[in-house]
Amino acid sequence: MIHADVVSKAREMSIVDVALALGAADGVKVNERGVPCPHCGGRDRFSVDHGKNVFLCRASGAGGDPIALVQHVSNVSFAEAIEQLTGERAIEARRAPERNDEQQNWYREKARHRAWNIWQNGAPIEPERRGRLVRDYLALRAIPFPAWRIKALREASQLPYWHFANGEFTVVHSGPAMLAAITGPDGRFMGVHRTWLDLSRPNGKAVVADPETGEILDAKKVEGSQKGGKIVLRDTLQVMPPAALCVLGEGIETVLSWDALNPDNDAALWVGINIGNVAGKAAEQIPHPSLTDTDRIGRTRRRKVGGQEPDLADVDCLQVPFGLFDRLTLLGDSDSDRFTTQAAMLRAKKRFELAGHSVEIDWAPDGQDFNDQLRGRRETRQAGRAA
Ligand SMILES: [Zn+2]
Repeated sequence: MIHADVVSKAREMSIVDVALALGAADGVKVNERGVPCPHCGGRDRFSVDHGKNVFLCRASGAGGDPIALVQHVSNVSFAEAIEQLTGERAIEARRAPERNDEQQNWYREKARHRAWNIWQNGAPIEPERRGRLVRDYLALRAIPFPAWRIKALREASQLPYWHFANGEFTVVHSGPAMLAAITGPDGRFMGVHRTWLDLSRPNGKAVVADPETGEILDAKKVEGSQKGGKIVLRDTLQVMPPAALCVLGEGIETVLSWDALNPDNDAALWVGINIGNVAGKAAEQIPHPSLTDTDRIGRTRRRKVGGQEPDLADVDCLQVPFGLFDRLTLLGDSDSDRFTTQAAMLRAKKRFELAGHSVEIDWAPDGQDFNDQLRGRRETRQAGRAA
C-alpha cells in the first residue's frame, strides 16, 4: 500500500532547499539561473523553476519534483527518495534491492563497450545518406519513412547473431539489421537494440533458428543494458513548440505506426523496449483467470502474472522526467494476452501517475497491435483502388 500523504509531503518540499541540500551551488536560489548539476556537473545545465517547484538538468534531460531530484542525484528508487526526503516510508518496509557489486559492473561495462562498437559501426538510415534497409523494412510494415531525423536508428548490412548454447557462444545467423541506441536516465548510451531483417519475408523480420535444436530464436536482441533505458525516436525539441505530449510504447514499429495513424501529432516518441521496463515490477502476483502452468511432476496451477499495483522499490524500470511533458500516453497492444497486458499497462499508469504525470492509455483495436491497424488501412485503401 502506498501512503499518498507521505508522497505529497515529499513532493511539496521546496525544490530550492532540496537542491541546496544535495550540493547545488547557491546560485540555484535565483529562479531559472543555470548552475552545475549536483549529479552530472557541467557549468550551467541545472536550474529550478520556483513556481512549478521542479528542476531541470538540460544535459541529461532529467527533471521534475523534489522526489525526481533525489532520484537523479542519489540514484535511488522512488520509495527510497521519499524516505530520504521525509524520513518516513511511503510503502511498507521491504528489503532494499541488492546493490550491484563490482564484478557485475565490470560485466556491464564490457557489454556496453560491445554495444557501443556495434552502434558505431552502423550506417545512416536516411535514403539521402544511402540508407535503404530500414527504409525498405518500414515500407514492408506499411510505415511511412519518418519526415524528421531519427538519431537513435542506424542499420547494418551484415550483423552476426551470437547465440549461447551448450556452454558457448556461436554465430547462428548473419544478415542485415536495424540498430537502435538505448539511452539511460542520464542520457548516456547504455545498449543497442537489434532487429535482424529479411526483406523477402512479409513482416521483414529474419527467421533465426538454433541449428542444433531447430528452436526459433527472437529476431530482436539487446546488447548492453535495457533496464531503465529508452529509445528516443523523436526528441522533445524536434518539434516546435517543445512537445507537450510524450507517447511511450513497447516497440519501434508500434510507436512509428501510432505516429502514422495520428498525422500532424507533435508528440515526443519514446520506445520502452519491453513491457516489464515500462510497467516496472508488480507489488504482487495475481492468478490469471484462464492460463495455467503444469510443473514437472504434473501439477497444474493457475498462472501467476504481475498485478496492477506497482512495486515502488523497483529502481531499474523506465522513468519519465516530471515537468518535461504535460501528458503521457501509453500505447497498449491488444494482440497478446489481454489480461496480462492490461494489468501491466494499469500498473504503468499508476506508477507514472504517482511520479506526477497525467497519463492515458491508447489501446490498439481488439486482437491487433498498432502496426496491424496501420497495415489494415493500407489494405483497405488498396482494395478500394482495385475496385
Ligand atoms: Zn544532471
